[in-house]
Amino acid sequence: MGMKRLVPASFLLIFLLVSCTTAPVTGRRQLILVSEEQSTALGVASYQQIKEQLPVVANTPEARMVERIGIAMAKVVEGAEGFAWEFTLFKDETPNAFALPGGKVGVNTGLFQVAKTEVQLATVMGHEIAHVMAQHSAERMSRDMATQLGLAVLGASTGSQEMVAMVSGVATLGVALPFNRSQESEADRIGLIYMAKAGYDPHAAVDLWTNFAALGGERPPKFLSTHPLPEDRIERIQALIPEAMAYYQP
Ligand SMILES: [Zn+2]
Repeated sequence: MGMKRLVPASFLLIFLLVSCTTAPVTGRRQLILVSEEQSTALGVASYQQIKEQLPVVANTPEARMVERIGIAMAKVVEGAEGFAWEFTLFKDETPNAFALPGGKVGVNTGLFQVAKTEVQLATVMGHEIAHVMAQHSAERMSRDMATQLGLAVLGASTGSQEMVAMVSGVATLGVALPFNRSQESEADRIGLIYMAKAGYDPHAAVDLWTNFAALGGERPPKFLSTHPLPEDRIERIQALIPEAMAYYQP
């Protein structure tokens, strides 16, 4: 994990050095305590695991669509120079998609139940890529680490060895957990701009979330637990479209 050498003093120094990170577009200040190298390593390892567990769909029109959108978006995002992007379609009927640090993006075949056009699929992929570019995983891990560190400092009884073990454990667990509400809103806003820059009309986001809302009672619990209700989202998305349209290149 590369975290073995962390001791409290250097941890605080890192805290001071990196706490000035800001999210793209929104400029929101972020606390990021893990290096891009560390979060990328976690993302790549998790993606590898998922590829071993779920069947990958390749060379179908849907798989090519996922790749086409991904490549178009990878060209317009800034700050992803070190990424080895991958855009994979997984055979899984849950309508969901995910993105991991380092540029690993997965789309489930079930997502095509709600993403009925390429531009609608681009809405979801833009959102997921926005989570990556805004370092939301690293931010979540950092918050957990800071919480644990705070507890340890308060207790004043934890040895540095124990703390290192604890911090490493938190970082390992953090990569696959859900994002919080402000991260979801931020990913919506940034994602609309990415889709617009990549040549996809952001108005399609409204259709996509309307389709999700129409899933109603059949909406899978997994999606509910990781994302806000589509009904609540549509109104916010509509308000964000004018900003994204300024970047739209048909
Ligand atoms: Zn999300």
